[in-house]
Amino acid sequence: MIPTDSDTATDFSLRALNLVNSGIIVLDAHHKIVLWNGWMVPRSARAAARVRERSLFEVFPELRGSRVEAAVLAALSPSADGASTTIPQSESRAPFPLREAGSFDGPRIDQAVTVTPFRDGEQRYCMIEIRDVSGAVEREKRLLDHAESLRARSYVDGLTGIANRRYFDVALDRELRRAQRAKGELSLLLIDIDSFKAYNDHFGHQQGDACLSTVAQALAAKLKRPADVAARYGGEEFAAILPDTSLEQARLHANAIRDHVAGLALPHAPAAHWPMVTLSIGVASFDRERLHEVPALIEAADKALYAAKRGGRNRVVVDGDASA
Ligand code: GH3
Ligand code: MG
Ligand code: MG
Repeated sequence: MIPTDSDTATDFSLRALNLVNSGIIVLDAHHKIVLWNGWMVPRSARAAARVRERSLFEVFPELRGSRVEAAVLAALSPSADGASTTIPQSESRAPFPLREAGSFDGPRIDQAVTVTPFRDGEQRYCMIEIRDVSGAVEREKRLLDHAESLRARSYVDGLTGIANRRYFDVALDRELRRAQRAKGELSLLLIDIDSFKAYNDHFGHQQGDACLSTVAQALAAKLKRPADVAARYGGEEFAAILPDTSLEQARLHANAIRDHVAGLALPHAPAAHWPMVTLSIGVASFDRERLHEVPALIEAADKALYAAKRGGRNRVVVDGDASA
């Protein structure tokens, strides 16, 4: 039979539709599939001849009750206005059971689905277009992972691997507000390595860096509770935030840390106050009348630290002690 011009045009359009790089399904007013393009075949493992004239919801029963069904029913209703409906990815990432060609139990392709009503004379139809957005979803996930790792790194001190000053500021503010609300306890330790300038002068800056890391690890190892925070406050100064810890308990903790570091017997410079690397520690605790804001609490711990230095170093002074 010699094809008419219109047959040739239809044939030509179908061939083009089969080359489109997305899924195209056309349904008639009874939800019967009248077109199923080539893209759909390997991804659904269903040939066009097997699905033609069958209801979409018989071929894919899981679509019943879904956003796709709602969009199809709206598009085929007599009052449909011709506008497309796009199914948001946030509601359904992969409504159709479609997989990479040849993969029967692999993950579903992430899909962007658009449903568009159209008429041919009196007949109502709708076209469903399914685009593979797996690549975009994968890229978005990688970007989110990357952002998360940058965020985590921005709170870590590059030299010692413990929390940095930025994290300390956030954590102290948060814990202080929590203590206020819960009428709880909270203690702060400011910790400074003694005669560290002499250490650098004697052993060199690089060994100074290694010493800072050793002290940071020793400090972190002594803080056992998950809510405790060990941070590098700056230079050769560290800080510890101890939630639910009274001033006297914090004094014991501080002495245990000081004792532990002195016990490591890390050789110090001849010009240092002590023959081994030692710490001076100032301690202060949250109290509702006097030390209920970050600057006041830090200042009290700093004053106690200064008193520990004046008192001969390698010691702990607590806010309120006669020497503080
Ligand atoms: P004090 O007992 O009174 O604390 O004496 P100090 O020498 O420790 O105090 P000072 O504040 O005078 O000196 C601190 C030194 O810490 C000086 C500085 O070079 C050193 N320092 C600060 N940050 C770093 C660092 O990241 N690496 C190294 N290696 N040294 C650092
Ligand atoms: Mg210092
Ligand atoms: Mg120092």
